[in-house]
Amino acid sequence: MRLGKKELTIMSCITAVIVLTTVILLFALHPWKDGKENASQEADSATSVTSASTVASSTEAALSSESTESRAEYVPTSQQDSEVTTVSSEETTIESTSETTIETTTESTTASTTESTTVETTVESTTEEPETQATTASTTQAPERSSGDYDLSGMVIVIDPGHQQHANSDTEPVAPWSDERKAKVSSGTQGVATGRPEYEVVLEIGLMLRDYLESMGATVIMTRTSNDVDISNIERANIAVENNADVFLRLHCDAADGSSARGIGVFVCNRGELADSQEKWGNWLGNCLEESTGSHFRGCNASSTYSGLNWSTSIPSFLLEMGFMTNSDDDRLLSDPEYQHKICEGIAAFCYKMKSR
Ligand SMILES: [Zn+2]
Repeated sequence: MRLGKKELTIMSCITAVIVLTTVILLFALHPWKDGKENASQEADSATSVTSASTVASSTEAALSSESTESRAEYVPTSQQDSEVTTVSSEETTIESTSETTIETTTESTTASTTESTTVETTVESTTEEPETQATTASTTQAPERSSGDYDLSGMVIVIDPGHQQHANSDTEPVAPWSDERKAKVSSGTQGVATGRPEYEVVLEIGLMLRDYLESMGATVIMTRTSNDVDISNIERANIAVENNADVFLRLHCDAADGSSARGIGVFVCNRGELADSQEKWGNWLGNCLEESTGSHFRGCNASSTYSGLNWSTSIPSFLLEMGFMTNSDDDRLLSDPEYQHKICEGIAAFCYKMKSR
């Protein structure tokens, strides 16, 4: 009985020691592993999370190779950093502005995206003006909206709000090179939804555009500032030519037989010293407007049909159809001050492009 008790005590002691050792070993091994994983997670988030769970139950060797991997991953991040710094400031601004816009949209979708966005934004913000970024992030609009601060100083822009209250059906030559004659000026089309006449809408936008471009330093000359005038298309062209305009912009609204046609159209002259460039510039104008308004640009057409353009071939001249008054959606938008402002923004972006060409 005594010997049995002793044996039992020794046995239980040995068992206790074995159990204790096992527990200590298990305890000592696992937290140490976790510590390693945490350290590598800090170095690089997304990839190490996946690889950490894979290696969790593996040996020391696997762990050390993982930490090497994460160190290797960390190097490109700092290389990327220095790459951003070496890009010219103009490119950096464009790239990061568009990047930020995309990232802001995806920010709310997943937590991991938000994390990487924060990291990237911090890296980028060191290489450019924080002003642009802050504005871009706070709005959902295109980048142009935030940079509505074009320096248009030194530019002469002549705006011709098309038509007038009373048409003048007397005729004048359609072009300096033609015997054909056309009515001096018509009264234009009318909105199917608003009932407003074209001459009224284009003057409204024209006056808003004048103020907007002047606020950016441009010298703006209007061919008319009221509806009850009598100025022929040749006379309007002459105002632009005499002032040697950098941009002569004729504002119109379009009309079609059906009600489905929508969008923006640009018309230029296919003759004269600037004929080779006019179509390219016309496409710039349409693209700027498409971007600022979200409307569809139908394209730039070069022809000799518009007397106002045919008599101003010595300067960059454009007839802009801002939308269709025969389409009820376009018609309503053309009278909407917010949309009118978007048109002004697109034209300002175009003028700046013309200044820097
Ligand atoms: Zn018109």
